[in-house]
Amino acid sequence: MRISMVSEHASPLAALGGVDAGGQNLHVAELSAALVRQGHEVTVFTRRDDPDTPDEVRAPAGYRVVHVPAGPPRMLPKDELLPHMGEFARFLHARWAADRPDIAHAHFWMSGLATVLAARDLDLPVVQTFHALGVVKRRYQGSKDTSPPERMRLERLIGRSVTRIAATCSDEVFELARMGLPRTRMSVVPCGVDLERFRPDGPRAPKYERHRLVTVGRLVPRKGFDTVIEALRLLPETELVIAGGPEQGRLDADPEAQRLLGIAERLGVRDRVHMPGQISREDMPALLRSADAVVCAPWYEPFGIVPLEAMACGVPVVASAVGGLTDTVVDGVTGTLVPPRKPDELATALRRLLTDRAVRDAYGIAGCDRARSRYSWDRIAADTLRVYDRAVHTEVGAGATRVGRVAR
Ligand code: UDP
Repeated sequence: MRISMVSEHASPLAALGGVDAGGQNLHVAELSAALVRQGHEVTVFTRRDDPDTPDEVRAPAGYRVVHVPAGPPRMLPKDELLPHMGEFARFLHARWAADRPDIAHAHFWMSGLATVLAARDLDLPVVQTFHALGVVKRRYQGSKDTSPPERMRLERLIGRSVTRIAATCSDEVFELARMGLPRTRMSVVPCGVDLERFRPDGPRAPKYERHRLVTVGRLVPRKGFDTVIEALRLLPETELVIAGGPEQGRLDADPEAQRLLGIAERLGVRDRVHMPGQISREDMPALLRSADAVVCAPWYEPFGIVPLEAMACGVPVVASAVGGLTDTVVDGVTGTLVPPRKPDELATALRRLLTDRAVRDAYGIAGCDRARSRYSWDRIAADTLRVYDRAVHTEVGAGATRVGRVAR
């Protein structure tokens, strides 16, 4: 198949861990690479955010990346990109009119908007993966949500206009159904994990206390790192590594890093909290393997790739029972699920695990089995291809009037 991926803010070539670069970048990169391995041709369209990048690059994994001129060629927060999606759509339309792919797969709602606008006269099937939903973000972030006010309305329209929706977890399917979108046009295709890179054997980063907890992610409040710091107060002889954010050396200028370190200081655990900043893909497995448990304590999580990476490394996971984490982490088998934003309950679950080596080992083995049997990128690519196949064999014409409404 000739596949066009559209990922407006999340380039598959970006370094991970920055404010707007995480799971979506990785998903687009790994899925594209796996589809190329299976003999398909993949082009990823992403916004040009640097004047010096070439118009097109071929990634080492064999997919093409096209840098779309839409808005100023510099980094912009993703919540400021909506005004540039018309220009993005015109570029896509011109490319696809000249050279039509078999399918367009849009990632995130703004890519969905540009894609349905570009595809509408071309009879081109569109698959949408939202990665995150405005309605969920608003529920948890309230007035701190900086998404454009149109987001929720447009997500519903995009959901109605696309040929199929590939949701990443069952919780997302419930949310989409609550938005009034038809269940019959949805499939669940989770994110995967690189099983060559993330495996139980291999080097381990050194640890300094008896027990080590590792938590990883973009340094944004909803990742709940403050909850883990609060739990640490109740866990003696335990250190916490919070990986992510800007590169080491630039953490002084990061307000969220400073906020977290301030909390650690106030709670008297500053000497047991390490913040190494952004960790490269190469160094991530050794860091995860050094943990007695990996903690994922977000307020909400659309999918959450980190628990899968930990499981693939044979490390037990203690996670909030939210979003995609309730699909990936099996409570009492591969780890423990706890309510979000409850440091005392998190500490209790962690204490139980840290004091019982046999349970940790059993969870680690079960987690590794689960990651290997269900979440390889080759398996995810095969699942995605089944969704493409169904979309290609769906009548596209019926969507046209709906797309027209989105355009207005
Ligand atoms: N990541 C990384 N280095 C960092 C921080 C994060 O490589 O310093 C990776 C992490 O290993 C995972 C991804 O970024 O693969 C984060 O994905 P996740 O779905 O957990 O969170 P998101 O960022 O999408 O909210």
